[in-house]
Parts: sequence; structure tokens; C-alpha cells
Amino acid sequence: MKALINIDYTYDFVADSGALTCGLPGQQIEGKIVELMEQFMQNGDYVVFAIDVHDLHDPYHPETKLFPPHNLRDTSGRDLYGTLQGVYEKNKQLDNVAYLDKTRYSAFAGTDLEIKLRERGITEVHLVGVCTDICVLHTAVDAYNKGFKIVVYKDAVASFNPAGHEWALGHFEQSLGAMVK
Ligand code: ZN
Repeated sequence: MKALINIDYTYDFVADSGALTCGLPGQQIEGKIVELMEQFMQNGDYVVFAIDVHDLHDPYHPETKLFPPHNLRDTSGRDLYGTLQGVYEKNKQLDNVAYLDKTRYSAFAGTDLEIKLRERGITEVHLVGVCTDICVLHTAVDAYNKGFKIVVYKDAVASFNPAGHEWALGHFEQSLGAMVK
């Protein structure tokens, strides 16, 4: 069994006006992300949205010192980017579609993602979203340590850092044993 994990594909991370945007490389993967979501749903596979959430005044959060405020709770910056929001809205009541808030880079950190995957007998995670070298990378590292097989779609991940993007694609394949396709 497999799951599609959609990481942080929101306005703040993708739109030109986003608070912490990947810009054009992020916008260019929208079609592929939507295509994969529809394909997984038609197959009855599990589709998870793992989406960053932050609070404005959180001095203990490690990202506070590193990044400007982004994906703040109850703001439109957290909406899924482009047509993906509509596709999600249309399907969110289905048993095989889940949305979870995450507060760290990895979708596994402090969430019930692992429990949701294990109870469904899922052994393979397919990763899409942003940023390739931050949240996608940290999710992949945790998936590797937990023994999941990993697939990363190079046309469905993006970063504001081209060198980081390329490095992470190599790391997925060479160090995490992922299939990059
Ligand atoms: Zn964040």
C-alpha cells in the first residue's frame, strides 16, 4: 500500500506574494501535483496533506529565528496553492484523504502521520510539494529511518534554492534509497 504525502503546497510557499515563497519553480509543479493527487485518489490510495502551521508569537519555536512569519494559523497563506485547494475541497470528505497540521519541517514530527500510515498497512510514501531541500527532505529522512520505501517526483517538488533542490534529489536517491522519478 502507498500514500501520497503533499507537503506545504500553500500560498505562502508558492505564490509570488507568499511570505516564504519558492516563486516560479513552485508554481510550475502545480499541474503535476494535481495530476498525481487525482491518480492516487482514483486508485483508492491514501492522500495526505501535511501542512505547516505557525503562531505569530512563538519565541520557543526554532523557525522564529530563521524565517519570517509564514503559514500562520487561520490565514489565507495556508490555503493550498492554485487549483489544488479546489481539488482538495471536493474530496476532503473521502476516507482516503487526510489533512494534518505540522509545526516542524518533517511531516512525521509531532503528528499522527506514522500511526495513520501503519494502521492502513502503508509501506511506501510518495512525496510531493515544497521545499525539496527543507520540508520534503526532512520528511524523507524520517520516512527512511522508520523503514518506509520512498518515491519522490522530481517534477512535483521545488525549492527557492536551485543548488539545494539538486543536492536533495541526489541525496534522496543515493543516501535514502528513494526512487526519484
Ligand atoms: Zn514553517
